[in-house]
Amino acid sequence: MEPQTKRWKGSVCDTDSWVPYPVLSDEQSQEVGLIEAFAAPILDKKETSRLVRELNSVYPLSGLQHIKRVRVCQKEGSPHPLEVLVCRVSDAPDMKVISIDSLLPSDGVRCNGLGEPFVVKVPARPPLTRPQFELASKHWPTSFHEDKQVTVALRGELFSPPQKAAMHAYMMSAVAAARAAKKMGMEPVGAVVVDPSTERIIAVGHDCRADHPLHHAVMVCIDLVARSQGGGCYSFDRYPACLTSLTSDAFHNEPDTDASSQPYICTGYDLYVTREPCVMCAMALVHSRIGRVFYGNTAADGALGTKFRVHSQKDLNHHFEVYRGILSKQCEDLNVPTAT
Ligand SMILES: [Zn+2]
Repeated sequence: MEPQTKRWKGSVCDTDSWVPYPVLSDEQSQEVGLIEAFAAPILDKKETSRLVRELNSVYPLSGLQHIKRVRVCQKEGSPHPLEVLVCRVSDAPDMKVISIDSLLPSDGVRCNGLGEPFVVKVPARPPLTRPQFELASKHWPTSFHEDKQVTVALRGELFSPPQKAAMHAYMMSAVAAARAAKKMGMEPVGAVVVDPSTERIIAVGHDCRADHPLHHAVMVCIDLVARSQGGGCYSFDRYPACLTSLTSDAFHNEPDTDASSQPYICTGYDLYVTREPCVMCAMALVHSRIGRVFYGNTAADGALGTKFRVHSQKDLNHHFEVYRGILSKQCEDLNVPTAT
């Protein structure tokens, strides 16, 4: 049987040592809030459909379409098997309701078959992920339109072993660039831009803050991508670990001279970066139209999950997927001071 680890450029490629997790939007990550509502036991099951119809017309529960109106009673051995949601507490005529009669207008709902009301907590908005759905459903039955890709990604199982091996190799290039920066006394951060459709590395960059305070690894990498397309603002020629597919023979690529076949800077490309990007770099990734971002470790001022989630900001005109945890151990080790 083949061993689990493969040799990749002299380093052990153990793709089981790390798990890529998605960095989701705030709405997908935060708990679904709860609001208070009145529910009541259905004493006579035969009255259920009439009660639901009449309650729907008096209290339509607008904005709570994800809530199921009727649930099976949660108390074991209860004499009444079903409970119905009557209304939000805030919609009730008197918030200190003590009887079902005072909750319902006499001409709207015939109360026969309905027991005395009690307060329950129900999910305030629809759940977007399976963990949110499972938590929300503990309070009151809730409908859920599952995004299967998100569910699989949250289990850390979105990428196949060959895909993980490729991700491993790309991040190893970023780690090597980070080590080069560290040796020169700069921040130990490296980045690689890849075209996933051709599996071509477009650019490798590292932190170059010795030149300019804004030359973070991601900014360097984006500039190198622009340079490979005939643009770019800076020269990183004096840093041998900063490369583009045009300036380096290492990639064995033919220069793409046909401008019409080139994407707008990073459209459709993937970025691998050892540390979570800051706000400036995250915004540069939005502007460059990056496809996906994979990073190793979080950063205290990180803008793709820790402090902000720029990639899922609704007000911005470009969004992208983000995954963390790629080669997390090797990326974390970059921060360990080197013995002198
Ligand atoms: Zn930055």
